[in-house]
Amino acid sequence: MTAFSTKAIHNGEEPDFRDGASGDVAVPIHLATTFARRKAGSPTAGYEYTRSLNPTRKALEEKLAALDDAKYGLAFSSGLAAASTLIISLLKTGDNVIGFDDLYGGTRRLLSNVFVNFGITTNYVDATDPANIEKAIQPNTKLIWIESPTNPLLKIADIRAIAQISKKHGLILVVDNTFLSPYFQKPLSLGADVVVYSTTKYIGGHSDVLGGSIVLNNEDFYKKLAYNQNAVGAVLSPFDSYLTLRGAKTLAVRMEQHQKNALELAEFLAKSSKIKRVLYPGLKNHPHHQIAAAQSSGFGGVLSFELVGTLQDAEDFLSKLKLFATAESLGGVESLAEIPAIMTHASVPKEVREQNGISDTLIRVSVGIEDTEDLIEDFRQALE
Ligand code: PLP
Repeated sequence: MTAFSTKAIHNGEEPDFRDGASGDVAVPIHLATTFARRKAGSPTAGYEYTRSLNPTRKALEEKLAALDDAKYGLAFSSGLAAASTLIISLLKTGDNVIGFDDLYGGTRRLLSNVFVNFGITTNYVDATDPANIEKAIQPNTKLIWIESPTNPLLKIADIRAIAQISKKHGLILVVDNTFLSPYFQKPLSLGADVVVYSTTKYIGGHSDVLGGSIVLNNEDFYKKLAYNQNAVGAVLSPFDSYLTLRGAKTLAVRMEQHQKNALELAEFLAKSSKIKRVLYPGLKNHPHHQIAAAQSSGFGGVLSFELVGTLQDAEDFLSKLKLFATAESLGGVESLAEIPAIMTHASVPKEVREQNGISDTLIRVSVGIEDTEDLIEDFRQALE
């Protein structure tokens, strides 16, 4: 079986040697929105209209499927476009979703503020204990939606155990695998039915392209999703497909450096008296380190920590950092830091945030792939 980086570089992009083809080693950006046929009645070359299928997007969809060892891959215009198409395709009015209580704020907003208007309800539970999921199942529950690690508290869900519960009750298990990427974690192999990504993050990897994807093995679900990908139309553009293909090729080497930097920074922060707690699943004292180590081959490049002090102290700290831009998002080559309470998770009601442990001095860091010593030095001077 071909290994990860070989697939990341070659799958979906085999040079075309047919007569007249140019043998490009990188798939071209096919900007055409429509594709001609010789005569009205003659077959097409497989493409009719770009929303339905485009050669550059198809190359990306093949690569993304290969990276997760999945049969099918679909690319969308954003992570939330992928999530919306998923919900529309697999659920209907009256259905219930059980979500991890620390889901990405935008996913929570989509479920609780948008799809609720179409009669799809969501209950949130602390999925670090799989029993909480089983207890929350109602007669109309159809789907479980988790992330692991979560955002921004880096909580870990035992994907295998939740998959068993999901199967026992005939539910669909969706895992948002954005944080670890397929390089460190393959949820389908742990029993998930559908895996969703914001490819805006590690897969694209350079903070210059928005996108989302779904990978899966279930043919029936794939047909519904592919139908709605075209019917709803939230597809990834040819240029953005190209950028995502380009980013995906270096995913493995980037993830290794993200992880090295995150672990060393987490260890540095854990020693500081100005830090209340550090949340990184790669630290041996993380409450679910063992589960994380058993289900993934790495711990990723995101960590959070709580500063001693007030929101103002957290804001001052960020403004003193020179290499970490104060910005939302994560997964790019450059380091970013943010305050979830007033940035990424501002849309989550304050009482829900506090109940879940997102305090005003919690800082989330997306550790980039710069040189480790420079990143640690930047934190040292900002803490001083
Ligand atoms: N899932 C996770 C874990 C995310 O962090 C994000 C965005 O931050 C999304 C989904 C949504 O993706 P996008 O911003 O590409 O729509």
